[in-house]
Amino acid sequence: MEYSEFQKQEFKREFASRRLKQILITGPVVVLMIFFSMASEGKITFLNSCTLSLLMPVFLFMVIGVLVFSLTNWRCPACNSYLGKLMNPRYCPKCGIGLR
Ligand SMILES: [Zn+2]
Repeated sequence: MEYSEFQKQEFKREFASRRLKQILITGPVVVLMIFFSMASEGKITFLNSCTLSLLMPVFLFMVIGVLVFSLTNWRCPACNSYLGKLMNPRYCPKCGIGLR
């Protein structure tokens, strides 16, 4: 499918906003993941195991939320195919549209 220059610019603009959302949403969860793995190894001592086990379900809920968000947000603006683990794709692997 051929797109006009205007559409191509729109796809890039849309991708930039999706990418920003993706970073803003997954960033804090990645930080929390590191935090939890350090805490479970006993490297962070101000949280006892009781507090940790209380926080774990909240954390798991957040991870599931981020996964669901990613599945709907992290898509090509042109063909709507999931972009997978690519964090900074220049082109859509499916339709080849320029994303940046
Ligand atoms: Zn695509």
